[in-house]
Amino acid sequence: MVGPTYAKRLERLKIETVEDLLYHFPSRYDDLTLISPINRLQPGEMVTIRGKIISIKNEYTRSGKKIQKGIVVDQSGEIEAIWFNQPFLIKTIKVGEEYSFSGKVDWFGRKIVMVSPQYEHLGAGNKPTIHTGRLVPVYPETARVSSKWLRSRIAPLLGQIPPEFDDFLPAKIKRENSLIDLTQAIKWIHFPESNVQAEKARDRLAFDELFLIQLASLKRKKDWQDKKLAHQFSVNQEKVLEFLRRLPFELTYAQKRSVREILTDLTRKKPMNRLLEGDVGSGKTVVAAIAAYVSFLNGFQTAVMAPTTILANQHFLTFDQMLTPLGVKISLLIGSTKRSKQDTISKTPDIIIGTHALLHRRARFEKLGLAIIDEQHRFGVKQRAQLVKGREAPHLLTMTATPIPRTIALTLYGDLDLSVIDEMPPGRKRVKTWVVPPQKRKDAYQWIKKQVKETDEQAFIICPLIEESETLQSIKAATVEYEELSKEVFPDLKLGLLHGRLKVKEKDKVVNHFREGKLDILVSTPVVEVGLDIPQATVMMIEGADRFGLAQLHQLRGRVGRGAKESFCLLFTAMTEGKTIQRLKAMEKTYLGMELAELDLKLRGPGEIYGTKQHGFPDLRVASFTDLNLIKKSRLAAEKIIVQINKHTLIKRKLEEIMSKIIEPN
Ligand code: ADP
Ligand code: MG
Repeated sequence: MVGPTYAKRLERLKIETVEDLLYHFPSRYDDLTLISPINRLQPGEMVTIRGKIISIKNEYTRSGKKIQKGIVVDQSGEIEAIWFNQPFLIKTIKVGEEYSFSGKVDWFGRKIVMVSPQYEHLGAGNKPTIHTGRLVPVYPETARVSSKWLRSRIAPLLGQIPPEFDDFLPAKIKRENSLIDLTQAIKWIHFPESNVQAEKARDRLAFDELFLIQLASLKRKKDWQDKKLAHQFSVNQEKVLEFLRRLPFELTYAQKRSVREILTDLTRKKPMNRLLEGDVGSGKTVVAAIAAYVSFLNGFQTAVMAPTTILANQHFLTFDQMLTPLGVKISLLIGSTKRSKQDTISKTPDIIIGTHALLHRRARFEKLGLAIIDEQHRFGVKQRAQLVKGREAPHLLTMTATPIPRTIALTLYGDLDLSVIDEMPPGRKRVKTWVVPPQKRKDAYQWIKKQVKETDEQAFIICPLIEESETLQSIKAATVEYEELSKEVFPDLKLGLLHGRLKVKEKDKVVNHFREGKLDILVSTPVVEVGLDIPQATVMMIEGADRFGLAQLHQLRGRVGRGAKESFCLLFTAMTEGKTIQRLKAMEKTYLGMELAELDLKLRGPGEIYGTKQHGFPDLRVASFTDLNLIKKSRLAAEKIIVQINKHTLIKRKLEEIMSKIIEPN
């Protein structure tokens, strides 16, 4: 249907099928509905005229630029239309033919003209216009696909909407929620004849989105409830208290509450499925370790899965420190662990900590009682499911530092029970945060130099977010940044570079050097490390901070401020004013991840914060995670449908489709 060039560009917008194209919705409409006779035109108006073009030519301005002048007539009069620097127009716009022009009427010298109007050929038939004289859809334009191109491709498709669009919602649900038909909605979202139509279309499509997401989470819940618990636990209070007494700190109230919730789950006859949510540094690991200890006390194994080798290593150290003295056998299994070495690891470890390499060795877990997944959003739903597959499931504890506003948790994770650590361990110092505009960049570099040199303190420098996942492009950017910083900015400091394409060994080496203080500064791509715990790092500098969501910035900031020393976060941006700066400035005052996430949700919308693969949230095209009312209504509908899903073949098919499409991070 389209040539290879466009196919490539469309691929970047993730448009591969007709259905994808029809689901590529406009982000707004230009109101070009006012149609006026030429003799009524007023300067300043945005209008549409319809008329015959009687001449068009290129002219040179005094400064040597090309402008295009055309004359349009209708029954009431004539007007000049001018364009700048589009010499090809004198070929595309044909003298003697009828056109519709939409644009601004303005003074040009002493004349009233139409300035750079959109134009659209009016053929013989009375075909409705799509670029002019109406509410004109404007699409999110990226990857060099223009709205005009999209309009001209989408419009003809709407006359013959394919059967995939058979309405899957039962009439009753549509009636109860005042929703229009699906095909109608698709037509109206692209080419509405009024704002009311556009709104009705959005209402329907937004409902669909939230309905299907919640249907999927209800389905997961149902599947989970159908599972049998592999091994039932009992909790030895005395031993748990002893574990707590041995800790060098007392648990916070929120940690204690989470422990209680988890231990209660562990004694039930159904497998636990709980999400432990807590800000970076809030102390989730120790809570997980307690659960693992209980599993050990019951004679069962625990698997701990982390998204990166560095994190797996770190967990290994922490668990080892806390639990080995209590007689727990712990082993580490990561991609690079050689088979020969694996065989020398204890044959029957009580706790196996690893990356997704664990999934391929699942057979080793003969008595898996508990599975723990850290930074769960970094794993795909499928990977998570793999760890606990089969009819008999172990208890499952997932953890995340992504602050998830309640509305979102309700929608996406309706299948999980939630424990929240909403309190930081005492004595944590706030990370002093500054937004650094371009003119202060030099000073900031000087300041970092002073801060890092001649102390044992260290700094992170995070390169800008270029793409959602780590591409070659962002690695190149990081490498260039690293070289520039090493040679020109910090020639007398020791810098290291960390990115996802490094071999595991090299990564470990860099991180270990940094941990041991052999490096002053670690330059890193944004996606590399979650949960890295290096207490003597006190400076976090983030390049291109405006490209990140606030919650993401907050997580990066959480890499510092872990020790006793005062810590700092510098947000570099090329912007100097406006909304972006204000958004970033919130980081200077707000220190709660959840508050920042909610603020971002308001300021930028969920698509931008939660649309990234990194977070594992689906992209919402129309709906909003802030729309509590719609979330409730669609949830109610989903609850009604899920209990009789087999009766609704179309919905069932849709559900299977989205369950298989759920994004997998790389
Ligand atoms: P996260 O929730 O980000 O995974 P960690 O579990 O890595 O956080 O904990 C961060 C640091 O805080 C660790 O060094 C840990 O030992 C420490 N910590 C955890 N709980 C407490 C507490 N209640 N009091 C003091 N320090 C604590
Ligand atoms: Mg952690």
